[in-house]
Amino acid sequence: MRIVLLGPPGAGKGTQGVLLGKSYGIPQISTGDMLRKAVTDETPLGMQVKEIIRDGKLVPDDLIISLIEERISGDDCRKGFILDGFPRTIEQGEALEKVLPGSVDVTIYLNVPREEVVERLAGRLTCRKCGAVYRKRDISVCPVCGGDLYQREDDQKSTIEHRIKVYEENTAPLVEFYRSKGKLVEVGGMGEPGDIFKALQENISKVGS
Ligand code: ADP
Ligand code: ZN
Repeated sequence: MRIVLLGPPGAGKGTQGVLLGKSYGIPQISTGDMLRKAVTDETPLGMQVKEIIRDGKLVPDDLIISLIEERISGDDCRKGFILDGFPRTIEQGEALEKVLPGSVDVTIYLNVPREEVVERLAGRLTCRKCGAVYRKRDISVCPVCGGDLYQREDDQKSTIEHRIKVYEENTAPLVEFYRSKGKLVEVGGMGEPGDIFKALQENISKVGS
């Protein structure tokens, strides 16, 4: 099963991606997590993308496409994968089709209103170690892995607006791109993660396979 998660920043793609990955026994691949790790590890890629990510801009297509090509050719992806954060432009969507023709079984569009997105992003903390996200509360360590929680630099109010604009201009057109292929499932992203996950599973079983 090859699944693409689409939706604005803060829609819950990461949370749902992890749940789907567990339930299908396939890897959840987040380009954002991969890039942030490269930045932390100070790899050549990390150095190249550090400021782009901080400013909420898009990493160049060629960089991200080769990163993904390499990742999905891994042995653990033979049964499928879940993509979170890729494709993010029509060019990236077309590149994915080229590498693996007819590659995507289902694209899930998590739809969340703009006001909610801003509130979620500004009010969340991210685990430095495992990438899990939490509402800001009185906790400073990740209940899952013990990593410390921090506010992502690109989750500052000034950058959030820019990321939403980048999403609307570059990524939102992918909704129609996949809809026209008959591969799109639209699910409302408001409510409890567990309920949203149930809705996802029901919809996937209708479209996929
Ligand atoms: P979000 O919370 O907005 O979904 P991500 O963790 O997916 O954030 O991505 C963080 C940043 O990493 C993006 O703002 C962008 O700079 C970069 N990035 C991630 N995936 C891609 C991609 N497919 N193409 C270009 N840039 C990307
Ligand atoms: Zn953690």
